[in-house]
Amino acid sequence: MTPFVFNTTHCILFRFGAAKEIARHAGVLLGPKVLVVTDPGLRRAGLADPAVGALAAAGHEVTVFDQIEADPSVATVIATVDAGRGAGVTGVIGFGGGSSLDVAKVASLLLGTDQTLDEAWGIGNARGPRLPLVLVPTTAGTGSEVTPVAILTVGGAEKRGISSAILLPDIALLDAELTLSLPASITAATGVDAMVHAIEAYASANANNNPLSRLLAREALRLLGANIETAVMDGTNGPAREAMLLGAMLAGQAFANSPVAAVHALAYPLGGLFHIPHGLSNALVLTSVLRFNLPLAAATYAEIAADAFPHLAEVPDEARALAFVAALEALIGRLQMPRRLRDLNIPADALPRMAADAMKQQRLLVNNPRPVTEADALAIYTEAW
Ligand code: NAD
Repeated sequence: MTPFVFNTTHCILFRFGAAKEIARHAGVLLGPKVLVVTDPGLRRAGLADPAVGALAAAGHEVTVFDQIEADPSVATVIATVDAGRGAGVTGVIGFGGGSSLDVAKVASLLLGTDQTLDEAWGIGNARGPRLPLVLVPTTAGTGSEVTPVAILTVGGAEKRGISSAILLPDIALLDAELTLSLPASITAATGVDAMVHAIEAYASANANNNPLSRLLAREALRLLGANIETAVMDGTNGPAREAMLLGAMLAGQAFANSPVAAVHALAYPLGGLFHIPHGLSNALVLTSVLRFNLPLAAATYAEIAADAFPHLAEVPDEARALAFVAALEALIGRLQMPRRLRDLNIPADALPRMAADAMKQQRLLVNNPRPVTEADALAIYTEAW
C-alpha cells in the first residue's frame, strides 16, 4: 500500500447547542483572557452572544474582534493580532465562516510565536508555537475547523495560503444550531463548496491521496448530496443542518490530507478580482473543470457519482461520469445559484487576466488529475462564461 500521512483536529465536539457550553468544554484550554474572532454580520445577529456570555460568566475576560470581511486581507489579520496583543489574550476562538476561522488560525499563530507572516506562507513553513485555538464554524462549507490551511487575500487580488499542521485547532466545536440562521444563498454556495472539497479530494493527483480521505469524501458526498436541497429550502430543518455540518467537516478532513485542485485554483481569481463569495466561485467553474478532467478522471468520478446522486447507480459505468457532471449542473440550477460568469457581470475581456492569475495557484494545480495550462484555463473560463 502507498504510504500516507493523515492529520486532523485533535478533539472534535459535535453537538446541537454546544456553543452555549463552550466555557465548560474549552475554558481551561483557553485560559483567562480570550479573543473571539468573528464578522460584523454575525455580531449584529448576536450569534456569538451565548458563547461570549458563557465565557464571561465562567470568569474569562473576553475581547471580541468583529471586523473580519469575506476573503480576509493581511491588514485584517494584523488588526486582529493587535487587538489580541493589546488585551494580552491567552487563547483564541474563531467563530464564523471560513473567513473568521482562517483569521483566527493565523492570529493564534502570530500571537504565540516570534515568526512573521512573511515567514509562514506556503506549505510547512509555519512552525509555531501558537496560542490555544478553538474553531466554531457557522457555515457548513469550508471545513476550516479540520484543515491546516488559512487563506488570505494579498495585495487586493491574490489569494495566498499558509498550510501547516500547527494551524489545526485544539478543538473543533460543531453546533448545527448556529447554522439555522444561514440564508438560503449562503447555504447553497457553502454547501457546494463542501461538495467540491469531497470531489477534488477523492480525485486528487497528490501523492498523499489516501484511503482515509477517499472514505471520508464518499461519506461527505452522501450526506451533502442527500441534504443540501432540504437545508437550502427549509433552513430551520435541524437534521438537514446537522448532516450538512458533518458532511462539510468530513470533506474538510478529506481534502486536508488529499488536497484540492483546479476547481479551487480557477475559483480563486473570481474571489480575488471580483469578490465573488468563495463557494459561488467554485460552483461557477465546477462543471467546466470536471468536464475538462473527464478524459483522465472519468473512472474516478464514476466511482463517487452515486454517493452524491443515488439514482446514478443505474447508469452504465461508461456513461456515469458524464451523468455526474450533468447532475451537478442540474443541482446548482435547482439551488437557484447564478450559473454563468456573465450572470455576475464578469467582462469577457477579464478572462485572460483570470487565466494568468489561476496559473499562480500551482500549489493546487499540481493536484489536478489532468495538467492545466494557461490556454486550458482560458478555455475553461470561456466555457463557464
Ligand atoms: P464567510 O466566512 O466569508 O462568510 C460569508 C457570509 O456568511 C458572511 O457575511 C457571514 O456573516 C455569513 N454567515 C456566516 N455564518 C452565518 C450564519 N450562521 N447565519 C447567518 N449568516 C452567516 O464564508 P465561508 O464560505 O464560510 O468562508 C469563505 C472563506 O474561507 C474564504 O476566504 C475561503 O478562501 C476560505 N476557505 C478556507 C478553507 C480552509 O481550509 N481554511 C477552505 C475553503 C475556503
